[in-house]
Amino acid sequence: MKFLEVKHVSKTYTDESRSLTVLKDISFAAEEGEFICVIGPSGSGKSTLLRMITGLDRPTGGEIYFKNRKVEGVADKVAMVFQSFALFPWLTVLDNVTIGLEAKGIKRKDRIAIAEKYIDKVGLDGFEEAFPRELSGGMKQRVGLARALTMEPELLCMDEPFSALDAFTAQNLREEVLDLWLDENLPVKTVLMVTHGIEEAVFMADRIIVLSKRPAKVVADVKVDLPRPRNMKDRAFSETADRIYSLIF
Ligand code: ADP
Ligand code: MG
Repeated sequence: MKFLEVKHVSKTYTDESRSLTVLKDISFAAEEGEFICVIGPSGSGKSTLLRMITGLDRPTGGEIYFKNRKVEGVADKVAMVFQSFALFPWLTVLDNVTIGLEAKGIKRKDRIAIAEKYIDKVGLDGFEEAFPRELSGGMKQRVGLARALTMEPELLCMDEPFSALDAFTAQNLREEVLDLWLDENLPVKTVLMVTHGIEEAVFMADRIIVLSKRPAKVVADVKVDLPRPRNMKDRAFSETADRIYSLIF
């Protein structure tokens, strides 16, 4: 069984006056357990691709299969972390984290129990009653991460999750996300992360899918065979990063 299959996916946005093709014939597959980064220039359709994989948008051509089922609408066992955190400013941390469970019709008592588990996992214990405005960027993204984890996803999609954070906070969170991915007690099996950072992709991914500029095609699918934990200062690391650079520029 294939875990995730993106087959000949295209996307054209159309309104009354014009149409814009952002993705053209994108195909790739992801195995269970992989950490995959999708990299490409701004405007190449990376967010669009992730939205289609999570069922928040639909392709205009081709199909997406998650565990052999065609993705049509928001898929079970798939969750998304957004670049902009996507928190509700008028809700507390706890209520932001439980919102997906509420939408699923899970009772408040059970929602809180599930949320508490993931609030602890992301290091936000004690901040349940805080509001987003009281949190740093890194903590806001931890809320986004906890909310995604409450869906107990096997496929975790992340759209440039660290790009709004300072370098130090971003690096801490990268390492924590790798720990979550490796954690046998969590349902997350595969991570599909969009980024425009080449070093970030080499630091995190087993495989890097490189997209061209719009209309985006897959220009390369690069296996990253470096041992973990990775060190950005290693020669093998910079060689891999250089290889990706040369594919893009
Ligand atoms: P990326 O994440 O790679 O920067 P996006 O997927 O956000 O790219 O967007 C790709 C292109 O599609 C952009 O030119 C953007 O303006 C356009 N686009 C994105 N969403 C919509 C939409 N809902 N309607 C029309 N155009 C859109
Ligand atoms: Mg984007």
